Amino acid sequence: MQIDCQQCVEQIGAYALYALSRDERTLVEGHLRSCARCSLFAYHLQSVTHQLPLAVAPMAPSPRVKQRMLAEIQNVIACQMVSAQTPLMTPVASGAPGEPAHQTWPVSRR
Ligand SMILES: [Zn+2]
Repeated sequence: MQIDCQQCVEQIGAYALYALSRDERTLVEGHLRSCARCSLFAYHLQSVTHQLPLAVAPMAPSPRVKQRMLAEIQNVIACQMVSAQTPLMTPVASGAPGEPAHQTWPVSRR
């Protein structure tokens, strides 16, 4: 599936803010590869959005917000550790009957 310039322009703001789903982003990026005009527009929009964090003065979060952020970070880290301990692949025995089985690993789809 491909999108045209109008569809791309409708999503380019969200694209520049990394607010599109993976599928939407793939469609926009596919269009950008083939359209110089939209690609230039996306470039300029992204250069603006990259400046946005510099437009506000830095501030320290409230203790409550800071506590929630740290709890969420710890939760993400814990999930990643559990995920890393869970094997994504299991060995598959191969070989004809009567021959020693060799263990091979299927290709990961990660
Ligand atoms: Zn276009």
